[in-house]
Amino acid sequence: MAVPKRRQSKSRQKMRRGAKRWQAPILNKCPECGSTVLSHIACPSCGYYKGRKVLVVNDMWFRRVVRHPSHRFPFTGSSQ
Ligand SMILES: [Zn+2]
Repeated sequence: MAVPKRRQSKSRQKMRRGAKRWQAPILNKCPECGSTVLSHIACPSCGYYKGRKVLVVNDMWFRRVVRHPSHRFPFTGSSQ
């Protein structure tokens, strides 16, 4: 098994960790309904993706989620 010849300097270690820091997800606007959507994901509010309806959206469920900011979408991956 390959083993590193030298230990990495603190500078290199910090440069590596600096490059993989957390970044906020890039949000786009849905061209159909104007809500913010994650890229490459069907719009959760209207169910459109690339100008085509791909999801059946329960409108009442979405309104409830939007009204309460404590609610999160299932795909954001955070607790709650
Ligand atoms: Zn939409």
